[in-house]
Amino acid sequence: MPIEQIASNDSDLLRARATVGDAEITVCTDGTALFDGGAMFGVVPKALWSKKVEADEQNRIAIGLNCVVVRIGSKTVLIETGFGNKLTSKVKALYGTQQRLPASLAAAGVAPEQVDIVINTHLHWDHCGWNTVLDADCTARPYFPNAQYIAHRGEVEHGRLQLERDRVSYVAANYEPLIASGQMRLIEGMEAEVCPGVRVECFPGHTANLLAVHIESGGEHPCFVSDLIPTAAHLPLGWVMAFDLDPVRTIAERKRFYARAVAEKWLLLFPHDHRCPMTTLHLDAKGNVVSQGTSV
Ligand SMILES: [Zn+2]
Repeated sequence: MPIEQIASNDSDLLRARATVGDAEITVCTDGTALFDGGAMFGVVPKALWSKKVEADEQNRIAIGLNCVVVRIGSKTVLIETGFGNKLTSKVKALYGTQQRLPASLAAAGVAPEQVDIVINTHLHWDHCGWNTVLDADCTARPYFPNAQYIAHRGEVEHGRLQLERDRVSYVAANYEPLIASGQMRLIEGMEAEVCPGVRVECFPGHTANLLAVHIESGGEHPCFVSDLIPTAAHLPLGWVMAFDLDPVRTIAERKRFYARAVAEKWLLLFPHDHRCPMTTLHLDAKGNVVSQGTSV
């Protein structure tokens, strides 16, 4: 089991750490956000999900905004950049955002200038917010000036449609300036290599081109699953978020994912589990996929 450390307090800036082969993995955080519990669990009745997760008086649950630093070879890779600090005060209050990523990266010993690659698994605003920050004259500049940013071309095309269903999540300032300057690489197809030992693969459902990030080193296989499985509470196949554009596809893609992840003992990294950011999986007596991770 490669998990070395999991945060013991909700306020800890470093959520988990593991060394896997030659890769050093640190789960940083942009803090938590308060999302509607019903939206997070879709058609699952509250009578069931409330046994696993506590909701506040507005039916909101705290979700982590996990951002994962992977040091591998000569590269420092950052997966996701949280909600960022370009939100209006109204949105900040609605979601209870905390803007903690800069402090969390500092705690991990990572300066923004040292990040070589930023991967956005998709372009929802809670995954790419710190891609850019606003200057005094309100122009968005890259927060990671020396990084190559990576996203899927299909995500950009979808965001540009500004559909009623999800346009609130696609904020042009998070990615358009980076595309215009050539700092964002847009990948196509179902798979792509990011750098030696790091690969992205599409698992459609949450969005049409949702990416998971595979890290392979020393025969071990950590995988950042992104919103295919947002938290450990979402491991049951049918526990799919209401946000998903194609929930039936999410279930099919989870089956495809579990077949490999369980058999090959992958280390799972969740995007939104504040207390259990990484875990391994096994099958219980009924054949259901369950977590072996430590919760605090
Ligand atoms: Zn998300």
